Amino acid sequence: MLRDMFKKTYTRIDTKYREPERTVTADGEEPTIPQGLWRKCNKCGQPIYTEDVKNNYYICPKCKGYFRVHAYRRIEMVIDDGTFEEWDKEMEFVNPLSFPGYEKKMNATKEKTRLNEAIVTGKGRIHGQETVIGVCDARFFMSSMGHNVGEKIARAVERATAEKLPVIIFACSGGARMQEGLVSLMQMAKTSAALEKHHEAGQLFVSVFTDPTTGGVTASFAMLGDIILAEPMR
Ligand SMILES: [Zn+2]
Repeated sequence: MLRDMFKKTYTRIDTKYREPERTVTADGEEPTIPQGLWRKCNKCGQPIYTEDVKNNYYICPKCKGYFRVHAYRRIEMVIDDGTFEEWDKEMEFVNPLSFPGYEKKMNATKEKTRLNEAIVTGKGRIHGQETVIGVCDARFFMSSMGHNVGEKIARAVERATAEKLPVIIFACSGGARMQEGLVSLMQMAKTSAALEKHHEAGQLFVSVFTDPTTGGVTASFAMLGDIILAEPMR
């Protein structure tokens, strides 16, 4: 039946913490390793000491694979301390297709990730230079480009144009948001148009692809960078 083709199946995927293989010290005692001290690299499967992951800028010291970085953490890494001013933090929830269960899933995702949408936008300084920044977060609906994501990008870019500032966007994942259908697809045109005006005003746009960047995001704003940087994809 057609119905069954769209049936949801849930798979438990272990992407979080896992205890590393135990090592035995010289005097034969097993050291106890507290949970959360280790992270498993999704690329090579090795347990990596969490501090090493942070100190190595979220790149696996063993296989050079890239870890996913949460939006606010990325901002903390890139923007000068205390200079970040977030824009459009709260936006009204829209459910253009009245998609069943969307609002419930949205609320659960908000609570789990402590984010309001799949992108954080705002203004800050990098080595004193003012810039507009947008950072996508894959934990939020796989960073799909729903109405509010498109709106936040378009507003940030328009404001950058008005304030004569460069724009840096860290993209990740990002197909259409299934629950918003055509409205989600329209965000490609909206964000592209805003960036075209920014470009015509002679401003710089740097697009950064984090691993993996796909879908509607690559079919719109992410590919329009004057400079495009990409993490290696494996
Ligand atoms: Zn690795």
